[in-house]
Amino acid sequence: MSTIPIKNIAAAEIVGHFINNVDVADNNRPQPVTNPATGEITRHVAMASQATVETAIAAAQAAFPAWRNTPPAKRARIMFKFKQLLEEYAEEISAAITDEHGKIFDDAMGEFGRGVEVVDYACGIPELLKGEYSKNVGPGIDSWSDFQPLGVVAGITPFNFPAMVPMWMYPMAIACGNTFILKPSEKDPTSPLIAARLLKEAGLPDGVFNLVNGDKEAVDALLNDDRVQAISFVGSTAVAEYIYTTGTKNGKRVQALGGAKNHAIVMPDADIDNAVNALIGAAYGSCGERCMAISVAVCIGDEVADSVVRKLQAEIASLKVGPGTDISNHMGPLITKVHHDKVRGYVDLGIEEGADLVVDGRGLVVEGHADGNFLGPCLFDNVTSDMRIYQEEIFGPVLCVVRAESEEQAMQLINDHEYGNGACIFTRDGEAARYFADNIQVGMVGINVPLPVPVSYHSFGGWKRSLFGDLFAYGPDSIRFYTRRKTITQRWPVGGVREKAKFAFPGRQ
Ligand code: NAD
Repeated sequence: MSTIPIKNIAAAEIVGHFINNVDVADNNRPQPVTNPATGEITRHVAMASQATVETAIAAAQAAFPAWRNTPPAKRARIMFKFKQLLEEYAEEISAAITDEHGKIFDDAMGEFGRGVEVVDYACGIPELLKGEYSKNVGPGIDSWSDFQPLGVVAGITPFNFPAMVPMWMYPMAIACGNTFILKPSEKDPTSPLIAARLLKEAGLPDGVFNLVNGDKEAVDALLNDDRVQAISFVGSTAVAEYIYTTGTKNGKRVQALGGAKNHAIVMPDADIDNAVNALIGAAYGSCGERCMAISVAVCIGDEVADSVVRKLQAEIASLKVGPGTDISNHMGPLITKVHHDKVRGYVDLGIEEGADLVVDGRGLVVEGHADGNFLGPCLFDNVTSDMRIYQEEIFGPVLCVVRAESEEQAMQLINDHEYGNGACIFTRDGEAARYFADNIQVGMVGINVPLPVPVSYHSFGGWKRSLFGDLFAYGPDSIRFYTRRKTITQRWPVGGVREKAKFAFPGRQ
């Protein structure tokens, strides 16, 4: 068995906060953090009070004037040092992810690597912030646009990518000259805390990055404080909508990324073996707890559907489920007992709704892990769009096969769905793929790519109820989100010549 030891997890018994580059201990309402593979409570995490959040906001506010005026090249050097440190601590951070989230260690390393990519991108900030310049927009008049930081900005993140999703936010926010407060998920708080300490070691000045752990009380303190200029949120749609509505009502810039139901269309001309392999990884990887997980496979025609279901059944039979510390496993546990029971409840519901449960993961026993939140992979066939298992995000290892008659009908299903995060198509037909990419109503499209998560120099986001706000996360959109444009028009009188007052609006030159 290839086992990665969980070592040196840099957390106290109670995970506190990190404010002004200092660990802040806090015994306020400590909540248990549980290892999902064993059910064991490994540590506790403090829930910040409003007063603690206000201390973090004050620290960020005080750090802003100097950080705003720090040359972008110097900010980039700190990011570069941070990236080096992250790479040095890659195993420790990934082990913390596996310990608290449950995902398989190499999946945790993969998540971590995609987060570090955004730090790579942030290292280019002097180039990215160069702005726009036009000489002689009128006689002797020059004009340029400057992209200025907003001030104190905050990020609120979900449990399922405890290292990567925070890194979608703070490297770019900080590189743009803002100061930042992170409120990570209370379910797996250790990896963001290690990263916070590494930012300090990289030379980030006090107060530029602050971390508060907590729940709704901490989030509401951020939402209701006038000093916070912008909020980035990633999590479930209900909370995303609340954050967007409350934040924008309070005059903040908000981007709130929510839930998903990602479809894959399998066309009759597709390489079916390839499509099945892709579906297996995208549906069951990370136990289906990915916002880009494929949860619906729409097969065009009964022949394709029969073949896909048969091959999926065979592949599922070879999947190994167990603790994430054993990298020969394909799937780990679900995050909590409550979430396990919710996902299991959806499997019961699917049967009641009349779908065919062709693979039932409910009876799974992982030896030696009776208290782990394990659920085996589940596969439903003959799912229809009126069923709740089709309409709602399950966020677990449950794949629904829907049968459709044509690409057009399959695309209509996707376009009618309330979520619009990602979708993909498996085909050998360039025309069908191009039509799909052009007309499908989602934010991220894959063509023979099951998890089309954009790289760090593009931007990530969904449409419809998968994103509230106008701008995507990281990539070029993050420069727009974390800065405010200012356009400056300048004239210096030549030779002391004074112009007469003009009363007409300046016309075309
Ligand atoms: P969640 O919405 O329960 O929690 C997200 C964050 O909001 C956490 O920090 C949590 O403490 C806070 N929070 C929870 N309830 C709150 C409330 N009532 N008021 C204020 N704050 C609150 O989400 P989760 O269970 O941690 O994560 C899973 C969800 O995140 C799934 O729906 C998944 O699709 C979504 N997600 C979306 C993306 C994306 O990019 N669209 C990426 C990852 C996860």
